[in-house]
Amino acid sequence: MESKNHQSDTHVVFNQPKPLENYNAFTADRILQYWVAQFGGQWGEERLTSFGGRIGGDLLEAGMNANQYLPTFRPVDRFGYRIDQVDYHPAYHQLMAHAIEHGHCAMPWSEKTSGRHVVRAAMAFLHTHADPGSGCPLTMTFASVPALQAQADIAEKWLPKIVSGRYDGRNIPWFEKEGVTLGMAMTEKQGGSDVRANTTYATPCEAPGGGKRYSLVGHKWFCSAPMSDAFLVLAQTDHGLSCFLVPRWREDGSKNPIHIQRLKDKLGNQSNASSEIEFRDAQGWLLGEPGKGIKTIIQMVALTRYDCMIGSSALMAQATKEAIWHTAGREVFGKPLHHQPLMQNVLADLALESEAALAISMRLARALEQLDNPHEAALVRIGTAIGKYWICKRAVQHTYEAMECLGGVGYVNENVASRLYREAPVNAIWEGSGNVQCLDLLRVLTREPDTVSVFIAELRYAIGANDAFDRAVDGLEEQLGNAEMLAYRTRQVIEKMAILWQAATLLRYGEPDNAEAFVQARVETSEYHQYGTLPSHIDMTAIISRAMPQSSG
Ligand SMILES: Cc1cc2nc3c(=O)[nH]c(=O)nc-3n(C[C@H](O)[C@H](O)[C@H](O)COP(=O)(O)OP(=O)(O)OC[C@H]3O[C@@H](n4cnc5c(N)ncnc54)[C@H](O)[C@@H]3O)c2cc1C
Repeated sequence: MESKNHQSDTHVVFNQPKPLENYNAFTADRILQYWVAQFGGQWGEERLTSFGGRIGGDLLEAGMNANQYLPTFRPVDRFGYRIDQVDYHPAYHQLMAHAIEHGHCAMPWSEKTSGRHVVRAAMAFLHTHADPGSGCPLTMTFASVPALQAQADIAEKWLPKIVSGRYDGRNIPWFEKEGVTLGMAMTEKQGGSDVRANTTYATPCEAPGGGKRYSLVGHKWFCSAPMSDAFLVLAQTDHGLSCFLVPRWREDGSKNPIHIQRLKDKLGNQSNASSEIEFRDAQGWLLGEPGKGIKTIIQMVALTRYDCMIGSSALMAQATKEAIWHTAGREVFGKPLHHQPLMQNVLADLALESEAALAISMRLARALEQLDNPHEAALVRIGTAIGKYWICKRAVQHTYEAMECLGGVGYVNENVASRLYREAPVNAIWEGSGNVQCLDLLRVLTREPDTVSVFIAELRYAIGANDAFDRAVDGLEEQLGNAEMLAYRTRQVIEKMAILWQAATLLRYGEPDNAEAFVQARVETSEYHQYGTLPSHIDMTAIISRAMPQSSG
C-alpha cells in the first residue's frame, strides 16, 4: 500500500524553463549592443550597463506591479474639493524616476557628444522591457523640447526642469519642482487624425500673440499621463489652430481647471493612465505664432512617432528573447524545442524581424543628431513615416507569434509575453494611425521629390552587396515613377520602401550573414505571410544564437 504522503504527490514540476529575470538587459542583448556601437554610442555602454542591470532586475518586477495595480482616479477630495488626482502604484514612480535620472528624456538635449540620440534610444528600448506604459510620459517629455523651443521665453522657464534629470511625481505646481514631465492633448471626439476639426477654443486674456496668456475652453477625448506638469494643447483661436502650453497649476498656486472626466479602460498600455479631460477656463501660453499650431506641435509629434518605432522594436526584441529563452528550456519529443526545425524557423524569423526594426530605428537615431546635413534631415522626414507604419504594424503579429512559442503559459497574464501582445497595437494607433503615416508618405511622394531622392540614395549606398536587393531597388524606383492610383496603393508602396530600407541598413551596417538572410527572406521571397517561413537554406541556428539572451550579462 502506498504511503499517504506519496499519494498526495500529484505531480513533480519538470521541463519548465526558468523565467528570464535577474539578468542585465543590456549586456545580455548582443544585438542592441551591436547597433549602439555601429551608430556611435559606445561611450554610453557603462551607463547602459547600469541601466540594463536595473531593467532586468528589480524594475522587471516593478513593471509587473505597475501593470497589475492600475492607476486610479480621484476627482475630488473627501470634502468635495476638486483635486483631479490620479494615484499610481509606487512601482510606476520607481520606473519613471529611474528612466529620468538616467537621461531618458534629456540626453539628446543636454549632451553634446555624437551618439547621444543612439544611447538615449537604447535607454528607451530597454525601459520598454520593464514597462512600455510609462514610456508614454517619458517620450512626450523628451519630444516636447523642440516644440517648446518655438517660444524662447517659455522655453527658458521650462527647459531646465525638463532636462534636470529629476523626477517629482507629486501633485504640486511645476514651479515648486526641480523636474517636470509633459503631456500632449490634441485628440477630440469628433476627430483625432483630423485635428483641424478641434473645437477647443482659446481666447487671449490680454494682448494676443506668442508667449501670451490665453483662456481655454473645450474637451479632449484622449489625454495620456494626466498628472504631467503641463500639456501641449491644440486649440482654435481667431487666427486658426494654435499650440499652447497648459500647466496643471496656475501661477498663483491654484489649480488650473483641467478637469479629468474619467480614465480610459484599455486593451493594453495599462500602467499608463489615459484620460478624457475638459478645459474650463484653463490658462495656457501660446507657443509660436497664432494659427501655426500644427507647425509647432508636429515637431513633438514627429519625435513621438520615432519613439513608437523604438518602442515597437523593443516589444519585438523582448518577445523574441522570451520565445528563444523559453523554448531553449523546454524539451519536446526528446530534444529542446528551440532545436526542432519548425520552431527554429519561427524563432529565427522573429529574430530577423526584430533586428531589422531596431536597425532602422537606430539609423534614424543617428540621423536625428545630424539634422544640419540635408541627407540625414530628409531621411528623418521620410523614414519616420515609413518606420512608424511598418514596425508598429509588424509588432502585432510578431508578439502574437512569440507568445504562441510559449504555448499556453504565454497566454497567461503572469507572463510578460501576453502583455507584449496587448501592448503592441497602441503604437500603431496613436501618434498618427497607419493610414495617416501613409498619407504623410503620399505627401512626400507627390510634393517633396528631393526627399524621395534622398531615400533612394540611402538604399543605393547598399547596392552591390546582393543582386536581388539591387534589382528590387530598381523595381521600387519604377514603382515610384507610377503616380496612377497612388492614393489607393500607398500601403503597397510603403511596405516595399520599409523592407528595402531595412535590407539596405542591414547590408550596409549589419552583420553580413544576417543581412543576407533578411534579403533572402523578405526581398527574394514574398509568397509567404506567417512567421516561420524562412527559406530552408538559411542558417537559422546562427540567427537564434545571436538573439539568445546572454546569461553572462
Ligand atoms: C491609449 C491611447 C492613448 C492616447 N493618448 C493620447 C494623448 O495623450 N493625446 C492625444 O492627443 N491623443 C491621444 N490618443 C489619441 C490618438 O492619437 C488617436 O486615437 C489617433 O490619432 C486616431 O484618432 P481617432 O481616434 O480620432 O481616429 P480617426 O481619426 O477617426 O481615425 C480612424 C481611422 O481612420 C484612419 N484615417 C484617418 N484619416 C484617414 C484618411 N484621410 N484616409 C484613410 N484613412 C484615414 C486612421 O488611420 C484610423 O485608422 C491616444 C489614443 C490611445 C489609444
